[in-house]
Amino acid sequence: MDFVYGPGKNHLFVPGPVNIPEPVIRAMNRNNEDYRSPAIPALTKTLLEDVKKIFKTTSGTPFLIPTTGTGAWESALTNTLSPGDRIVSFLIGQFSLLWIDQQQRLNFRVDVIESDWGRGADLDALASKLEADRSHTIKAVCIVHNETATGVTSDLAAVRKLLDEYRHPALLLVDGVSSICALDFRMDEWGVDVALTGSQKALSMPTGMGIVCASPKAMEAAKTAKSVRVFFDWNDYLKFYKLGTYWPYTPSIQLLYGLRTALDLLFEEGLDNVIARHSRLGKATRLAVEAWGLKNCTQREEWFSDTVTAVVVPPYINSADVVKRAWTRYNLSLGLGLNKVAGKVFRIGHLGNLNELQLLGCLSGVEMVLKDVGYPVKLGSGVAAAAAYLRNSTPMITSRI
Ligand code: PLP
Repeated sequence: MDFVYGPGKNHLFVPGPVNIPEPVIRAMNRNNEDYRSPAIPALTKTLLEDVKKIFKTTSGTPFLIPTTGTGAWESALTNTLSPGDRIVSFLIGQFSLLWIDQQQRLNFRVDVIESDWGRGADLDALASKLEADRSHTIKAVCIVHNETATGVTSDLAAVRKLLDEYRHPALLLVDGVSSICALDFRMDEWGVDVALTGSQKALSMPTGMGIVCASPKAMEAAKTAKSVRVFFDWNDYLKFYKLGTYWPYTPSIQLLYGLRTALDLLFEEGLDNVIARHSRLGKATRLAVEAWGLKNCTQREEWFSDTVTAVVVPPYINSADVVKRAWTRYNLSLGLGLNKVAGKVFRIGHLGNLNELQLLGCLSGVEMVLKDVGYPVKLGSGVAAAAAYLRNSTPMITSRI
């Protein structure tokens, strides 16, 4: 059995995979096509051009890869670096931990800068490393923009500023899996050399497409990078880009049409409006958490994430029970606490194609669950705090005015 029925709609509030909008589902509900016909290259050409807008780049080269975020990581690393290269990587939660594990297994020498889970990237530690590295042995700095496990967003502009201050030529490789299309992200302005995301996050598509974008400097590095790569080799893509056929292997036709519609919806709403909507939903969620008398796992406001909130439960409650109860009783899907914060936090994902009333539904569900598991919450308190804020801040839907 691959689907367990529950009445009504499942409230999907895990921080990815997220809700897929109906137009995207309909766009993907189609037969396979010959990808060598003129239609698919023509479609791909528009996608490659338009996808640059979500990275805010004009000079980047994008790759649409049949993979997930994990494959996108591997693509970024193996195309730009050689085995034994020294890299600096921030460890602040489960996803940065997994990326570091991949970096080590690919035989890079990783300087790990670790912070408490709930804190952002330690930029003072980066500054010390850059200052000490006069001979430029550090080849790349790797950072997860938004750590989905803890709901922490780190300051990419500040990382770029440090690299510039120390005139350090290291590449800046950024995991934007739970940030791109939801949080402010400026590839060109922040000098990001490789940015990547996965289709099942803020793009609101099914899982299965890794989207990687490389700066001219990263493309140059790819010419000499010696890491073994086959499936992820950018060169294979470039060969077919030149030919105008675009695909070194079979693309998912359905995902390509899905991406076309997903991008159209984002552009119709306006990327800046999408980012503002995420900011509203993030703030509303945090107001609810505060009204419940609970703590955000994220320790400082500067790191608050507008795509996911990790809520700390009191020690007498196991957060896994909150998640289980939400699903079994209220048809509400919340994110589990992962690794170090397992049992201690549950996560509310508020990213992708989502609106204010959907969020309020989720928050009311969380309140009922909290009461069920023995936390003395006042029913309606979080919803009231969030609604009061949202009522004042939610704009008209531009297409309906
Ligand atoms: N990076 C971040 C920030 C993530 O949140 C995730 C997954 O949730 C990944 C990478 C891994 O992506 P995937 O599961 O698509 O391989």
